[in-house]
Amino acid sequence: MNKKYRKPIIAGNWKMNMLASQTKDFADELKPLLPKTRGCESVVCAPYPLIPSLVKAVKGMRVAVGAQDVSVHDKGAYTGEVSAAMLKDLGVKYCIVGHSERRAYHGETDELVNAKTKALLAPEVEITPIICVGETLDQREKGITMEWIAMQVKCALNGLTDAEVRRCVIAYEPVWAIGTGKTATAEQAQEVCEFIRATVRKLYDAKTARALPVLYGGSMNAKNCAELLACPDIDGGLIGGASLKPADFSVIINAACGE
Ligand code: PEP
Repeated sequence: MNKKYRKPIIAGNWKMNMLASQTKDFADELKPLLPKTRGCESVVCAPYPLIPSLVKAVKGMRVAVGAQDVSVHDKGAYTGEVSAAMLKDLGVKYCIVGHSERRAYHGETDELVNAKTKALLAPEVEITPIICVGETLDQREKGITMEWIAMQVKCALNGLTDAEVRRCVIAYEPVWAIGTGKTATAEQAQEVCEFIRATVRKLYDAKTARALPVLYGGSMNAKNCAELLACPDIDGGLIGGASLKPADFSVIINAACGE
């Protein structure tokens, strides 16, 4: 982490876990374990129906609420979709886009990731997109990780101004490390996170690249977080399994805050 230029972000991704009725207990358990300083940003990205109760449960805590997906459309006849304005209205501050599970099981293309990013950045909404990119094991073994990541980053940011990119977060999530218990080594994660920043520097400028938080995600947990977070280009984590347990999640948040 380079705290001079970027505030660390620890974002939990609850995926399709937990119930609205469990959010208060989660928040009550997490509250005393949180750091006392404002040294990092903590976020919990919950399924849509849990958002109102989670917003209420974390009120007064330094925890922001995020969503896991958003529609590309503003409003209208799109049954089952949820707009960025609806999320903002509920108090949502962050939203994951292009998670590998959505890319794999819901046909989320790079074009959709780009359109969702734009929907979140719209001036009337201003929700921070957490844009996920990452290679499969096959791509890593074929030696095309960097090409793939560069393409995903370029497509996701297509048409954005430098000021808009400075309001984004990118999460490097190697597909082979998500939910598998297999973490990228700190060297592997740093190498790709540094490459993501270099890609943004090439596409935009040094100031934009320096300001952009790049997170690592993929089986980050209470045991391995310190080593990963010590890398200069890893500005925090996107945490799946370990974000479901306040005790584990708080260890990661405290590590990012430097406590
Ligand atoms: C994720 O869902 O983005 C993730 C990184 O999951 P896990 O931490 O469980 O690998």
